[in-house]
Amino acid sequence: MPLEDTSTVEILDTTLRDGEQAPGVSLSPAQKVDIARALERAGVDVIEAGSACTGAGEREAISRVTDLELDATVTSFCRGLEGDIELALECDVDGVHLVVPASDRHVEGKVGTTREDVLEMTAELVEYATAHGLWVEVIGEDGSRADLDFLEDVMATALDAGADRTCFADTVGHAGPEQTAEAVARLAALGPVSAHTHDDLGLGVANALAAVQSGASLVHCTVNGLGERAGNVALEEVAIALEHVYGVETVALEELYDLAQLVARSTGVELPPNKAVIGQNAFTHESGIHTDGTLKDDKMYEPYPPETVGRERRLALGKHTGRAGVRAALEEHDVGATDEQVAAIATRVTELGDKGKRVTDADLLAIAEDVTGNDRDRTVELLDLTAVSGGEVPTASVRLTVGGDERVASGTGSGPVDAAVSAVRSAIGSAADADLEAYHVDAVTGGTDAVVTVEVTMTRNDRSVTVARSESDITNASVHAMVDALDRLLEDDTQALTPADD
Ligand code: MN
Repeated sequence: MPLEDTSTVEILDTTLRDGEQAPGVSLSPAQKVDIARALERAGVDVIEAGSACTGAGEREAISRVTDLELDATVTSFCRGLEGDIELALECDVDGVHLVVPASDRHVEGKVGTTREDVLEMTAELVEYATAHGLWVEVIGEDGSRADLDFLEDVMATALDAGADRTCFADTVGHAGPEQTAEAVARLAALGPVSAHTHDDLGLGVANALAAVQSGASLVHCTVNGLGERAGNVALEEVAIALEHVYGVETVALEELYDLAQLVARSTGVELPPNKAVIGQNAFTHESGIHTDGTLKDDKMYEPYPPETVGRERRLALGKHTGRAGVRAALEEHDVGATDEQVAAIATRVTELGDKGKRVTDADLLAIAEDVTGNDRDRTVELLDLTAVSGGEVPTASVRLTVGGDERVASGTGSGPVDAAVSAVRSAIGSAADADLEAYHVDAVTGGTDAVVTVEVTMTRNDRSVTVARSESDITNASVHAMVDALDRLLEDDTQALTPADD
């Protein structure tokens, strides 16, 4: 379906208002400021920063966003009350979304008024807001379950009174694309119209696209599709769909992944692994056939390159790994193997993956060593570890061998892990100047006796290794992972092993 006259589709992000209304989500003023900055970097046109009527804390947050003096238009949600508009004005917003009841369920059941009064109130509120210099969008609440003739009357009244635009709101995610298209087309005939879609039927994106096709020029979205119930339509999905399928540019796509991670961290709502654009798996290939194809041609199993949305392609090892994936991973580690050996390694990787285990680099290298038969001596080996916490200063001591020499050292730190890592570094000397690039802890089981998996990525002289260790003691797991990583990084560098200080 060709999209016509879509040259001016703009994006409104309501993560800070509708997104924050998601169950269990609450953003501090500082978090709202960070997210607003990231939205600005992404080139979002309108940022709905909150509902000024919610309370003093919310008004402080909105004011801090308006203080940023962003290029984006910053707005507040307002109920159909003059007092709400006054509170929004106190926050110095550029504009407001005036929400008036549209369906009879809302007109009569929620607000307890009549259609005639809604029309009158709409005109008065719009005049009040525009008289105070505000940009005004009128949202007909529950618009998708409203009598379309009445919705049209409300919006004609709003535009006559000076509103800048109207909005077709599928408040409860009830409509399908055809209904959305019809309603938006009728409102678009009156003046500029926006679309506010929810994902209760999983139709958020389809409805947003239908709205654009029918003339909507502003699409309301939230980062990661956060929002009430099943959420709003996701900003990243609308943006990539508009650009990839229809060639309509909206936001800076390469900012989307950072934005997604910022919002996930701030809200505590994790990114689902299988989600379009932002999910962990969106550009990860594990299956043997897919990995093989991807190694021959990047585009083989991807609709667009991951860099488009600020991401990188990953080839994961696991149950579905085939020989091509194993060979590519071994090459990354400069491990040579014959075809037969690669086949044997692939079988072992698959077996490990069958147990539901993620196959890490260290697992792969251990398997490769075993299969290729060049078992080597460890360069660094941990013999003993003691860590004490609970006192004033957490301390740890380690005994390890480095290139055959036994060494003992101790260290202090902010906690037992930190102290132990410092002891290891001290024992190894200058060779331990590898950078700890990443440190992740995952609890494998739920209780306080949980087995934890610590995964570390260390880099030294442009070489990087990732090692995971699972143990019930987090300090032990951390130190073992780090020692294993150093062992890998130092294996060919005997010079670095001469004791530094003594
Ligand atoms: Mn909503």
